[in-house]
Amino acid sequence: MHATFQPMDVCATFHTDFLRSGRPALSVFPCTHRRDSFVTLPLRKLLGPAGFFLAGAAVAAAVYAVSLREGLDTLQRTAQARLAQSNDRFLGQVTRFQQLVNSLARHPQIGAVAAGKSKDDISDLMLTFALASGAGDVFLVNHDGVIIASSDYRGAETPGRVGRSVASSDYIQAALDGGLGWSHGLEELVEPRMLYFARAVFGEDGPVIGSVVVSVSVAALEFEWSFGLEPVAYFDQAGVIFVTNRPDLALQRDPSLTLPRARRVQFPTDGLPEIFDYRSTQLFGHRIWRDIDSDVLPDAALVLARYIPRIELQAAIFQDIRPVQERAFLFALLSSALVGLIGLGVWVTNLRRRALAERLLAEEAANEQLEARVDARTQELRETQKQLIAAGRLSALGEMSAGISHELNQPLAAMQNFAENGKKLIEKGRTEQASENFDRLREQVDRVGRIIRSLRAFARKEEQEIRAIDISEAVDRALAISDIRLRRNGVEVERHGFGEPVTVSAGQVRLEQVLVNILGNAIDALADSDVRKITFDLQKMGNRAHLSIRDTGPGIEAPDQVFEPFYSTKDPGSSNGMGLGLSISHGIIGSFSGTLACRNTKGGGAEFEIELPLVETVP
Ligand code: ADP
Repeated sequence: MHATFQPMDVCATFHTDFLRSGRPALSVFPCTHRRDSFVTLPLRKLLGPAGFFLAGAAVAAAVYAVSLREGLDTLQRTAQARLAQSNDRFLGQVTRFQQLVNSLARHPQIGAVAAGKSKDDISDLMLTFALASGAGDVFLVNHDGVIIASSDYRGAETPGRVGRSVASSDYIQAALDGGLGWSHGLEELVEPRMLYFARAVFGEDGPVIGSVVVSVSVAALEFEWSFGLEPVAYFDQAGVIFVTNRPDLALQRDPSLTLPRARRVQFPTDGLPEIFDYRSTQLFGHRIWRDIDSDVLPDAALVLARYIPRIELQAAIFQDIRPVQERAFLFALLSSALVGLIGLGVWVTNLRRRALAERLLAEEAANEQLEARVDARTQELRETQKQLIAAGRLSALGEMSAGISHELNQPLAAMQNFAENGKKLIEKGRTEQASENFDRLREQVDRVGRIIRSLRAFARKEEQEIRAIDISEAVDRALAISDIRLRRNGVEVERHGFGEPVTVSAGQVRLEQVLVNILGNAIDALADSDVRKITFDLQKMGNRAHLSIRDTGPGIEAPDQVFEPFYSTKDPGSSNGMGLGLSISHGIIGSFSGTLACRNTKGGGAEFEIELPLVETVP
């Protein structure tokens, strides 16, 4: 059988109250809500980083564009300066040969030969000029355009140019017309690229009788240039690179640069190689050639071109734009990194802020929960305390009423006896004895009155009554209440320090209740003792009163537990075994700003000590 797992949306919940609830910390369950609400949350979280990413990209693009534009502007200015330098240098060389041809046209020997007055061989003279100036050849053309003397003439057998007609060349025509002839062309001899400078030779009486021509090798001129500069090329009217500082570019032809008037080009250009591939574009108003397929030029270059009318060539300089691009890219990268850093900073701060807020919220919620629980618990405890006090009072009241009813029965029976005897004595006329009987009767009435007073004291509502009371009076009353039990159990009571009133701040009935409870416990503890004695000791120490109640019983089993509610070593079936008496007593004494403590004495019995604030009494 194959188990098939269907894809479904799954939601997960973390239970933060795992420890309390005992449920697993992570629940996974199929989502019942719409799918889009499930994806909205991560999307929303991504918006911030995406925004910063976009901002970073935008800043980077802007910085790149501005930096590139500035860089290209600077590059253009550099190109202008370099091209001007290059042109000056080239035109300087051209001027040199123009001056040479001017001088030669006025040379008397050359003039004489041109006029036919001299048959001298002037080829050596011309060679001397050629060598001295760096020119290729110097030759003399007669009025018909035929070369009649040349620096390459080596006698009749190797005449060189002599005898050739150059009448068709327009620079010769220009010279024969009286102007300065200038042309460039290819020669199949030593160096193919040549510049020609021609100047008319005038006869003595004025008319043009011929012309002197100086040919110059372009390569020889280029040789004088330094190679290290940016590539420069001079295009002629046919778009042929005729002069350049990169020999590899020479004679490459760019048909797109052909000028409409290709008058000066004296050589066939069809056979020349086409220029390298490139793509001409415009960027921020600059002409950029891209994808240049040449070993001697950069891949992408800013091209600045200027037409030079004097030599009828177009000069172009190629400036590599790669450093400008790299600089712009670096700036863009730095700025985007900066934006990224700022974004990261903001993001991290945000995350921390959110985490802090969440933690504060969680802490707040936990605090509120805790406070609510503490409140509820305090309330419960108050209730329990009230109930315990009430229960304690009831039990004390029960105990007391048992004692009181027993106590009342005795004087009532005695009163009945005294009354009956008194009646009989009066009937017998023994009035004196009858009077004594009535005195005894009054004593019994007093005793009943005392007992009832104690009862009334317990019945009083007492919460409000913390006042100055005499502690020895409270002990008296407690002893009176416990009198029957004391006597029935044969317990002897001793009191020390009760000479004068010791006034403390307390509630009378509640203090008596505490004392009755301590006395009751002591009487219980003495049940099996041979010596049955309870000792009260009252002392003033500083601003506190100390009342100690010691017994000669077996001592307390666990002194540190007796104030705990429901701690009791007594038989649970007995009316005393509730284990509440001391815990309530402890609370009562505490409510008077006093303390109740216990310990076992050296003799082995138990000792309870009540400490209460003294009240200053005016003597
Ligand atoms: P109960 O009297 O109902 O037991 P109490 O709170 O009054 O409750 O007393 C708690 C316990 O303290 C007693 O069960 C007993 O073990 C111990 N105790 C109190 N007084 C004495 C005493 N004088 N001698 C020995 N043990 C005592």
